[in-house]
Amino acid sequence: MPQHPLAAFGRDYLAIPGPSVMPDAVLRAMHRSAPNIYHGALIEMVEGIVPDLRRVARTKGHVAMYIGNGHATWEACLSNTVMAGEKVLVPATGRFGLGWADVATGLGIDAEVIDFGKSSAIDPMRVAERLSADKSHEIKAVLAVHVDTSTSFKNDIAALRAVLDDLDHPALLMADCMASLGCDPFEMDAWGVDVVIAGSQKGMMVPPGMCFVFFSDKAAEARTRMDRVSRYWDWTPRANPTAFFEYWNGTAPTHHLYGLRAALDMIHDEGIENVWRRHHLLARAVWAAVEAWGSNGPMKMNVSDPVQRGHSVTAIGIGAPHATALRDWTEQNLGLTLGIGLGMAETSDPAWHGYFRLGHMGHVSGHMVMGMLGGIDAGLKALDLPHGSGALEAASGVIAGG
Ligand SMILES: *Cc1c(COP(=O)(O)O)cnc(C)c1O
Repeated sequence: MPQHPLAAFGRDYLAIPGPSVMPDAVLRAMHRSAPNIYHGALIEMVEGIVPDLRRVARTKGHVAMYIGNGHATWEACLSNTVMAGEKVLVPATGRFGLGWADVATGLGIDAEVIDFGKSSAIDPMRVAERLSADKSHEIKAVLAVHVDTSTSFKNDIAALRAVLDDLDHPALLMADCMASLGCDPFEMDAWGVDVVIAGSQKGMMVPPGMCFVFFSDKAAEARTRMDRVSRYWDWTPRANPTAFFEYWNGTAPTHHLYGLRAALDMIHDEGIENVWRRHHLLARAVWAAVEAWGSNGPMKMNVSDPVQRGHSVTAIGIGAPHATALRDWTEQNLGLTLGIGLGMAETSDPAWHGYFRLGHMGHVSGHMVMGMLGGIDAGLKALDLPHGSGALEAASGVIAGG
């Protein structure tokens, strides 16, 4: 290892699964003086943001915006639809499904978890079994994470809709798309999803601090039978504001909105389907590299079936303490920060995680992914960790193939 980190100076690169890299256009849009929040340009700009968000989620449904992170959306959507004492079903494939269930429990909701563990996707048949036993329709909602950022499993949300329809079960279908909106193909209306939640800091390329709840007419209807909804979480005025301050129940997230406007312009200029294709291509480049490294030594992707892999994040096992050593090496020597393993080890001490995660979400290009992979390749060599060769060849071959 070099005594001085010769290659650590230059532009740094946060390659974790959120917050993601912010485009210069987003940063430039945010770099401005405080706007008037009562009339003028800001108010006019927000009118256009709602329909543009709908285009990303592929819905004609309602949109409520909040100042908050992903955890806020978990609480927001449940606060509008499920009362304390009622039941929800949570098929979980990692830390984020379990986290959503925990937020439900905190609201006094009876959250029944079907835990698929860390190494399998949601099996719709097991969800069907549980729902078919629910003759009295006690289960008010099914809470599924589209891409669980801890395990990097992608779940088949449309299959869950088919299960509900086959059983004629009235539960709402809710999808956590924090890690997938603007990354993986997702069709809220075509897949019959009632509630979709997402945040600003992943595929949307804006700093953490804003979040979105998309909801169907059926979910809006569920809101009307609630005994009470906290004023702050209530999505009705946010989705149907009669005055500007109602969008956020108070002061708007002014600078985030300028950033979001720029990000939506970028997404629509590229075309959402091209955004999805780019993420798939870059994910395949990452996977090809990890397969080559793993051909000799302990490295291995957590998700073996490519169809079940999210396109925005890859969880990789390499054995403790190698994962931490590798992350430390790339950060200290290259200015490249890799994601910690999350929810994969029995202890929460990151030093004992045998996993690390690569974020490839949002504002990432082929040369950034090649740079990230090259940095890992250098780290494996510098630390003398066992690994197969040809990873960068494999990745560049994928990118060359388009
Ligand atoms: C990031 C993430 C969250 C939580 O977001 P926070 O902003 O950290 O609260 C929830 N669900 C998924 C799938 C995520 O990737």
